[in-house]
Amino acid sequence: MIWYPYQQMKTMRTPYNIIDANGVYLYTENDKLIDSVSSWWSVIHGYKHPVLTEAIKNQADQFSHVMLGGLTHEPVRKLAEKLEEWLPGDLDYCFFSDSGSVAVEVALKMALQYYVNRGERKRTKVLSLTHAYHGDTFKTMEVGDDEDYHFILEAYGEKKDVIHIPTQTDALEEAFVRFHEELNCLIVEPLLQGAGGMRMYDVSFLQRARALCDEYGVLLVFDEVATGFGRTGNRFVADLVLPDILVLGKALTGGYIGHAVTVANHKVYEGFYGDDSEKALMHGPTFMGNALACSVALKSIELFEEGDYLSRIRRIEEITRREMAGLAHEQIQEVRILGGCVCVEVKDPDFLQGYQQFACRRGVFSRPFLRYLYAMVPYVITEEELVQVLGVMREWFA
Ligand SMILES: *Cc1c(COP(=O)(O)O)cnc(C)c1O
Repeated sequence: MIWYPYQQMKTMRTPYNIIDANGVYLYTENDKLIDSVSSWWSVIHGYKHPVLTEAIKNQADQFSHVMLGGLTHEPVRKLAEKLEEWLPGDLDYCFFSDSGSVAVEVALKMALQYYVNRGERKRTKVLSLTHAYHGDTFKTMEVGDDEDYHFILEAYGEKKDVIHIPTQTDALEEAFVRFHEELNCLIVEPLLQGAGGMRMYDVSFLQRARALCDEYGVLLVFDEVATGFGRTGNRFVADLVLPDILVLGKALTGGYIGHAVTVANHKVYEGFYGDDSEKALMHGPTFMGNALACSVALKSIELFEEGDYLSRIRRIEEITRREMAGLAHEQIQEVRILGGCVCVEVKDPDFLQGYQQFACRRGVFSRPFLRYLYAMVPYVITEEELVQVLGVMREWFA
């Protein structure tokens, strides 16, 4: 028996049974649906991409996995080299893991231990944003502020050493002044807070955050598990403001297989480097650096580079702005658009009841949550297909 995610199993609708997937389409027994969710925002090149499928098949013919404990291999070395060259600044040191949540855990552990290694044991507090989402494991839930998780954290007890602030520079400044010698890091989903409701904010907040982190000696962590690989219209938000630690996941493998990476800059890496074994980073997911994942991730990055994806995403944003212009309804709180993400926030969550089936009958797979109706399409979508996805959203309000 499968226990499905985020579902009351008793009242859950039968999930759509997918028998094939190709390009932007999911195929059920009877229907062909555009996947407007990109399988949780990861399938940026579409399904069954010949280059990605070949990469995985070729690697499977060699070996699918060997552990990184005492062993190494070409796919993981090539991917690390590629990331080192491709990521901005001195974000050069790649720690791989099997999921975004784990990669965020690693980032938080790195930030905390960085200060412990320097003998600064008072720096235990983490600054994070209201409405943040950083994953489903316990520490990531703690630094998160997702309204869907509040019930479990109430049972779990007080949040330990986590301070949430809104995306406003006065609140940011106040928190730095108040907690400065106790802070070890500020963690944010830069520019776009995904699972917390597709909330968008200005880059000036991040610029101010960078300046304050420098001034107060606090590490800046970007969780780009969702925003990385073009979703905000930037390759990475880290191209605009450089963090000390960058977390990538979701689209890292083009959505083919779960993998993530925590990338540290030189300063953070130096904080662990030396003759003292107690200063080593004590972490090691069984499947870190999985050879299938690394092979497909490398090809996914090459496709991203060669396919002029940033222009494609700019085009997606233009079409989205054009199609959503003038959308108005008494239930609409706000329409938000950034890069390859569009969200219509409604006032009453009940208003979105039945949308999934409505969209499905019109050839689109969608999965609204709480008050948020959104699309994060694969970047290979055609204009006609995108207009269809947005048209179904508009039709719901008609
Ligand atoms: C999805 C997500 C995660 C968690 O990634 P998993 O692979 O599901 O563990 C963490 N941070 C952000 C911003 C995400 O969107």
